[in-house]
Amino acid sequence: MCAVFECKAKKVYPIIYPIRYGQMNNINCYLYEHQNKLTLIDAGIDSAEYQIFFEEQLATYGLNIMDIEQIILTHHHVDHIGMVNKIIEKKQIPVFAHPLALERLALTPAYQKTKIQFYQELYERYGCAEVMASRIEKMQQTLHNDGGLRIQSVIEPIQANDYVGELKALETPGHSLDSISLYDEECGWLFTGDFMIEKGTTNALIDFDSEKSLLPTVLQQRQSIEQCQKYSVSTVFAGHEAVFDQFAEVAQLNIEKIDYKVQRIVKQIDKGNETVLKLASALYGDLLHKIPTLILSEVIGYVYFAEILGFVESVQRDGQITFRSV
Ligand SMILES: [Zn+2]
Repeated sequence: MCAVFECKAKKVYPIIYPIRYGQMNNINCYLYEHQNKLTLIDAGIDSAEYQIFFEEQLATYGLNIMDIEQIILTHHHVDHIGMVNKIIEKKQIPVFAHPLALERLALTPAYQKTKIQFYQELYERYGCAEVMASRIEKMQQTLHNDGGLRIQSVIEPIQANDYVGELKALETPGHSLDSISLYDEECGWLFTGDFMIEKGTTNALIDFDSEKSLLPTVLQQRQSIEQCQKYSVSTVFAGHEAVFDQFAEVAQLNIEKIDYKVQRIVKQIDKGNETVLKLASALYGDLLHKIPTLILSEVIGYVYFAEILGFVESVQRDGQITFRSV
């Protein structure tokens, strides 16, 4: 059992699942209690083992699933929504998420087809179709398997400055386009999902907007951090790693990391690594073949940010995008 956080008449019960997940430790969700109303913020992963862990943790706090009265999702990723269907099977309760999460949570075939088409074209344009062929194939299989993770609930949309009880929703896109953070002003509590985690290793993953255009995710991430720096945050309840209180330092570190990474990309382009694949190999070596989706997301995201900042420009050469510094 983790320590319970208390402030005024409110409590937070952390549910920290100790597991290595990608580059991160722990999968976290939180029970937030105010005026005897229990809100689940995020919902872990979808597995039998996790369900046992989740219910055991609730029991150590003297709680059970039937006590949960609403769920708020910080974003649509699978490690944040796992228990939603299992909870609403037992009890119909409201589930809140950002409007842009809706079709991603519903996983409609139309959305999945758009997603496959977007990544296929993107990887081709950036000359990495071959490296990413197996990911595209996997996405096509999920489409035929009817995707087992769709959320079977009506989602109530919340966006910037909406309140769910005492929790104010802040739009903090970057890691994903539908990322929201939840702020309890009275206690200085900030629930960040994956927008900000203790070690600052969270990634601004590439994604597309309603026009099927590449989103400026790194720029969004940087702006989201700057937005939160205006708030008086005492404790951060993050989606991975530990609960932490040095918000100002972590926020600053994240900004510095983003600025360092964009400079690093520009330097590599100066050295003649003018394509996405050459940049990925120069910066990440073998990791490109071990975790290609993440590495290419990182490189494409940063090279696009460098372009937005006017540090580099893209040039079409033999039907492929290449870069040069300005
Ligand atoms: Zn996550």
